[in-house]
Amino acid sequence: AVETRLYFTTPQDVRHLLRPRKKFSHKGLYGHALLLSGGFGKMGAAVLAARACLRAGVGLLTIQVPATGYTVLQTAVPEAMTLADKHRRHLSELPKETDKFDVIGVGPGIGTERVTKTALGQLLATASQPLVVDADAINIIGSSDKLKGQLPPDKVIFTPHPKEFERLVGKSNNEYDRLYDMLDFCRVYRCYVVLKGNNTTIGTPDGKIFFNTTGNAGMATGGTGDVLTGIVTALVGQNYSLEEACLLGVYLHGLAGDLALKAVGEISMTASDVIDFLPQAFLKLQ
Ligand code: AMP
Ligand code: MG
Repeated sequence: AVETRLYFTTPQDVRHLLRPRKKFSHKGLYGHALLLSGGFGKMGAAVLAARACLRAGVGLLTIQVPATGYTVLQTAVPEAMTLADKHRRHLSELPKETDKFDVIGVGPGIGTERVTKTALGQLLATASQPLVVDADAINIIGSSDKLKGQLPPDKVIFTPHPKEFERLVGKSNNEYDRLYDMLDFCRVYRCYVVLKGNNTTIGTPDGKIFFNTTGNAGMATGGTGDVLTGIVTALVGQNYSLEEACLLGVYLHGLAGDLALKAVGEISMTASDVIDFLPQAFLKLQ
C-alpha cells in the first residue's frame, strides 16, 4: 500500500507560504491569468471569479466571455481585459494566443453545450500552462473518459463541490472511502483535487490529504465557489506551486468568509462579501 499522509491546515502552515512583493517589481512578475467563464444568464460567475482573481494579486487578467457578456465584464471589472467569444451565449473557442497566459481558470457559468465541450477538449489537448478546472468544466470532463485521458499530468487543479466530485470521480460508498477515491484519482491522473464543503479537503498526486480549517456555513450561497476559482487561479499565476495555491487559496477563501461572518453574519453573507474581505484575509495572514 502507498502511504497516505493526513494534515490539518493551520495558520502557521500557510503563513510562511505567502510571499511579499519585491520593491522594484512590476505587473509582469505576478502572472497573466486567463479566465474562461460565464454564459448567458451566468455572467455573474465570470464577474465574481475575475474580481476575486484581481484581489488575490494577479498581475494581469484577461477574461473571455460569450459575446453577450462583453459589456457586462468591461463595466463590472474595469481592471480586466475582456475578449468576446464568437458565440453569443456559450464558451465555444479558445483565444488566439493561449501560450502567453501563465495559468488558465475554466468553468464557472460555462454550461455543458456541445460547442463548449469541444473547446474544452481543445484546451486539454493544447494547454502548456497549469489549469484550474471548476464547475461545468468538471462536469464535462467527468462525463468523458476521452477527456480524462487527455489531462496533462501535474498541471490540473479540480475544485469540485460534492456533486461535481461524484461526476468526476464516481460515487463513493461513504465519506471515508471518498477520501481514498479522491487520492486514487489524484494519483492516476497526477492532478490536485479540492473537494469543497465544510472542511474542504485537498488531495495531491503524491498521496497527501489536507483538511482546511477556515470557512463557515454563511458561505453556502451561490457564487462562493466561483470566488475560490479566481483566487486559486491568481495564486498559480503568481508562481505558487499547485499544492501551495490549493492550500493558500482555500485557506484565504475561508478566512475571508470568516471575516465576512463577523461583519454581515451568516444569513446575509453573499459571495461578493467574501471578495470584499479578501484584502483583510491577506493582511491577517501576513
Ligand atoms: P460552490 O458550491 O462551487 O459555489 O462552492 C461553495 C464554496 O463555499 C466552497 O468553497 C465551499 O467550501 C464553501 N462552503 C459551502 N458550504 C459551506 C459550509 N457549510 N461550511 C464551510 N464552507 C462552505
Ligand atoms: Mg461552483
